Amino acid sequence: MRLSTVMKPAAFDYVIADSIDMAVASLADGGGDAKIIAGGQSLVPMLNFRLIRPSVLIDINRIGDLAFIEEAGKKICVGALTRHYQIETSPVIARHLPVLASAMTHVAHLAIRNRGTIGGSLSHADPAAELPMMALLLDAELHIASASGKRTIAARDFFVGALTVDLARDDIVTEIALPKLPPKTGWGFEEVARRSGDFALAAAAATLTLSAGVISQARIALTGVGPTPVRVAEAEALLVGQALEPGLIDRIIDVVRAAIEPETDLHASSDYRRHLASVLVGRAVSAAWRRANESAT
Ligand code: FAD
Repeated sequence: MRLSTVMKPAAFDYVIADSIDMAVASLADGGGDAKIIAGGQSLVPMLNFRLIRPSVLIDINRIGDLAFIEEAGKKICVGALTRHYQIETSPVIARHLPVLASAMTHVAHLAIRNRGTIGGSLSHADPAAELPMMALLLDAELHIASASGKRTIAARDFFVGALTVDLARDDIVTEIALPKLPPKTGWGFEEVARRSGDFALAAAAATLTLSAGVISQARIALTGVGPTPVRVAEAEALLVGQALEPGLIDRIIDVVRAAIEPETDLHASSDYRRHLASVLVGRAVSAAWRRANESAT
């Protein structure tokens, strides 16, 4: 069989949904064999390689209610269809979640960021993707709708395995709610990829919140080091109540190194990824400390 023959999707029906209700009803009608298409940046390659063969695609790109970035009290609510580039350039995100704006610049290339959506990235859950790590770092909640009703799930419970999330076949992610960073919070984001725009070999992000000159809340998250993004609770706990000094950074790096078990693959060995990720955490935590102190003065 020639490659050009393989690079075409199997036949499917195509439904344009113009409301969340229509998308949900179409998913239910699909009887478990329907797929949502958002930006198509992950789905279309999978269709073309025939890794998946849905009988119907439900296009949600015309549902205006799904694309927004809004302040709601202490949270920022982001519609599932919001494009990566909109998040990257949003003044609201820059003000309240600057670590997220920074992370977005590492996602693929501009053309892909113009189409790819936050809901698609979280639902696809690539083990080296930035947005799942951000959702975990920032204690996001996902709002989900289906024919049987609505539910909310914390990001920490959503990512189940590589490319596997807690979504039933007729579920649609509608919104992602992200708590604003508290005052006196600094952040760091560090990533290494072989080429600009490639998926990360590993990436680390941290936020540190200060109170009376010491760390009152610490969050550390990693991607590219296992099937799902991870938080490193032991390292976070070590930081609380402390001022960051070089000895503490070394301890954090050691704790992270011991806590993660990356797999060896085509791109990097397990040992290399473990070393890389722990060094990146050290840099991310240092940057977060510096920014937290700048914001506290
Ligand atoms: P789609 O491809 O449309 O859908 C992906 C999956 O999510 C499908 O299963 C679909 O059914 C489901 N889905 C979509 N929306 C919803 C919803 N609202 N509710 C429920 N299910 C839904 N990503 C990174 O994070 N980092 C990178 O460095 C990176 N590099 C890339 C490089 C290339 C060359 C390409 C092509 C992609 C890259 N991506 C990268 C992936 C990109 O970020 C995608 O946009 C993203 O993974 C999927 O978003 P999408 O909107 O395109 O989703």
